[in-house]
Amino acid sequence: DLDAIAAPVAVAIALSANVGLPRASGLPDDSFAHDGQITKRPVRALTLSALAPRPGETLWDIGAGSGSISVEWCLAGGRATAFELRPERVKNIARNIRDFGLAHRMTVVEGTSSQTIENQTPPDAVFIGGGGTAALFEQLFAILPKGTRLVANGVTLETETLLATLHAEKGGSLLRIELAQARPLGGMRGWQPARPVVQWSVTL
Ligand code: SAH
Repeated sequence: DLDAIAAPVAVAIALSANVGLPRASGLPDDSFAHDGQITKRPVRALTLSALAPRPGETLWDIGAGSGSISVEWCLAGGRATAFELRPERVKNIARNIRDFGLAHRMTVVEGTSSQTIENQTPPDAVFIGGGGTAALFEQLFAILPKGTRLVANGVTLETETLLATLHAEKGGSLLRIELAQARPLGGMRGWQPARPVVQWSVTL
């Protein structure tokens, strides 16, 4: 009798408001173990949208920081490998893998990504959140199959210049994300702008 099952389930759902993981990307920053170097929630949501995960697909998360992008990719049904240089951040990534129960789908590799991505099976999508030099892009263009989706975020002028050049050469879309949040200003409030993030997305 389905109704007999449905009624208690409906009650349980009603009682559990705000409990459980939301389905949309862009979880609160503090859902993750991080040291401040994390793609902030609104930018992360836009990044996941650009990465466009589908169940069963694989991601390389290069310069993974806290691994938040990989975690949200995996929560959307994919598998991810997070590449991170700094050992203390690798620890945060390992903790996030464990806390989100993703050990069966997500791994972390410590080291310089130009070396650690070698000999890995090519993924469906690549996110570059750190270490995105001209040399790394050249390496990626050489090894990634046609059809791979690539998304790169930059906050420095140097990375922005590189992404603008790559956009001119390879196409895709270049997005500038400028956000501001209301914060106390004296006894009132004012807009606190965040650093602009430039995001290049392309299908190779
Ligand atoms: N998207 C991440 C934040 C990335 S911050 C998050 O949401 O948590 C960029 C990261 O790139 C830093 O942790 C930095 O240590 C890492 N990084 C920089 N150069 C790298 C390289 N050559 N190889 C691997 N990681 C690198």
